[in-house]
Amino acid sequence: MPELPEVETTRRLLEPELLGRWVTAVDVDHPRAIRYQPQPADFAARLIGRRLGHVERRGKYLMTALDGGMTWVVHLGMSGRMAVRPIGEARQIHCRAAVGLDSGREVRLIDPRTFGHTVVFLPDELAVSSLTDLGPDAHLELPRSRALSAALHGRTAPIKALLLDQRVLAGVGNIYADEALHRARLSPHRAGGSLDAEEVGRLRRAIKETLRAGIAAGGTSLEDMAYLLPDGRSGDYRMRLRAYGREGEPCRRCAAAIRRDIIRGRSSFWCPDCQR
Ligand SMILES: [Zn+2]
Repeated sequence: MPELPEVETTRRLLEPELLGRWVTAVDVDHPRAIRYQPQPADFAARLIGRRLGHVERRGKYLMTALDGGMTWVVHLGMSGRMAVRPIGEARQIHCRAAVGLDSGREVRLIDPRTFGHTVVFLPDELAVSSLTDLGPDAHLELPRSRALSAALHGRTAPIKALLLDQRVLAGVGNIYADEALHRARLSPHRAGGSLDAEEVGRLRRAIKETLRAGIAAGGTSLEDMAYLLPDGRSGDYRMRLRAYGREGEPCRRCAAAIRRDIIRGRSSFWCPDCQR
């Protein structure tokens, strides 16, 4: 699933294509792609003829400002990615929506499993949307250790599950949660509230370093190549993964075998020897 580094990488490559461009055409090829648009016809009607502003990111959401105060939102879901290609070029299989620009290029949402979505919100709709449930962005607004301790205080849920909770921290998903916990030498099974101040500080630094490294590598393209950069390149962080997807392989720190447990329904990869 695309997480913060993948969405941030996408944002950085999309913005130069979008900023200042006018929308000339909109095609929706799968109704599920716009399932959160209260009136489906609004999606195209609100985009066509509008000028695109800056592309921002909050957690795993991409948000592009439109003139007139509206916001074009994209969430890549489990397997979505964005591509920018010339208008008229054959669309990729699983292209669910395409937005044509006056540059002669077109922004496409490609999403095999259709868990992703896109929607155009008026300001008052955005203000009551699910985006308001997001906690601080894990890259741009990572809380100081004291605030993170307060957020984890008394929580009995496993720290792994709390890291996936977008209300606690927005943007971290299964891959980078496992990577950050490995870097912090913390077991994913630990209750969130059991971490002492020193451990929370370690976790905070690990989240920061992991996300920065993920962004620097262009994100993680797994073997399925579901996630690719908008220009079609793959993200290189897979080679640098320490825990995620490495069941049975030696820990890069202590050489013990990486183990896979299911925590709250999600695969969790960790080293039982050096993560406590
Ligand atoms: Zn280890």
